This record gives sequence, structure tokens and C-alpha cells, in this order.
Amino acid sequence: MTQQPTVGVLAVQGDVREHLGALESTGVVAMPVRRSSELAEVAGLVLPGGESTTIDKLIRIFELRDPIRARIADGMPVYGSCAGMILLADQIVDGTTDQLPIGGMSISVRRNAFGRQVDSFECHLDMPVVGPEPVQAVFIRAPWVQEWGGAVEVLARVPEGHGDASGRPVAVRQGNLLATSFHPEVTGDHRVHSYFAAMVRAAAP
Ligand code: GLN
Repeated sequence: MTQQPTVGVLAVQGDVREHLGALESTGVVAMPVRRSSELAEVAGLVLPGGESTTIDKLIRIFELRDPIRARIADGMPVYGSCAGMILLADQIVDGTTDQLPIGGMSISVRRNAFGRQVDSFECHLDMPVVGPEPVQAVFIRAPWVQEWGGAVEVLARVPEGHGDASGRPVAVRQGNLLATSFHPEVTGDHRVHSYFAAMVRAAAP
């Protein structure tokens, strides 16, 4: 049997436990990452949903920001969900003045794009890279991708019939970086995590 890679979940704030469970269901070894010595042990990393401004502050305090950026530059696969997508974006629209993304993806994301009043929104959307069955997408004060560069592959968009949100990219990939506006860790459908686990296995030496 081939050895399974270890995948970390950044565990400073946000829905860490759900991602650990979803990752484990794909067969990889999952572990929380709170310090740079733990980051060094993982072959891939999930940046969970939560509050991107808080996560940003904490990774600077815990001196994790630069090590994560270095691992990204080195080719480590990273998957950001919701706040995690915001952290991976090169540009944030409606961020706070002192908010610094980790960056790496040539995307501009709009925070709380579905409207500040709209706490959550759900729909089914097509995401062919994970299979023919639509994905149940749960958005919680979610961003969407406002603009994106040529190296970015759009994996899913909000379907027609949802006003200004329709057509907006909500799952994107650029090389070893994957991001979704929605939270697949809360639905019990772990195909997005399986897709990410395959990215990690493919990148492993
Ligand atoms: N609105 C949050 C932020 O800006 C993201 C919400 C989430 O991750 N569910 O970080």
C-alpha cells in the first residue's frame, strides 16, 4: 500500500474540525497546524472558513504567514475555503485597511459579496472536475471572485437565477492552489476534499 500524505488544517481560528474530518474521509492523514514546526510536517494545507481578518492577525502573531508563503512558493498544494479563499487572493475588495492576504492566486475577491444582510445562501452548482453530480454549495458570509488572471481556471460558478451572484466564479484553481467560496466540509459530500487530496498526492515527491 502506498503511504498516504499528511495534510494540515490551519488551526488558529475557524471550522478546523470539519475539515479534519472531511480530509480523513479521503484517506489522507489530517493534522491541525498551529506552529511552523507543524507546517513543516505536512504535504498540503487547508485554510478553513472563519474570519479572514482574525486569521490574518493570528498567523502574523504566530509567525506562520511567511512560512506558509514560502511553502506556497515551493509548490505545496493549498486549499482555501471561504475565509481561506480570501487569504489566498492577491487582492481583496472590501477588506479592512490593515488586512494582508497570504496571496498567491491571481484573483480579486469581494468579501461578504452576497450582501452583508445575507448571512447564508445555498444552491447546487456544477463542478465538473469533481464529477457529474452537482455540488451542494453552502455560502456563509462568503466572498466571490470578482476578477481573475489568465492562469486561473474557473471550476464552478453560481448558476443563473441568483441575481448579481449569477455567473460569479466560486471555485477556482491556479496550479497547486485551490479555492472555493463555499463550505464543502459541512455537507457530508467530500468530493472537493478528494479532489484536493489528489492534488496533494500528485505533488508529493
Ligand atoms: N466573511 C468572512 C471573512 O471575511 C468569511 C466567512 C467564512 O469564512 N464563512 O473572512
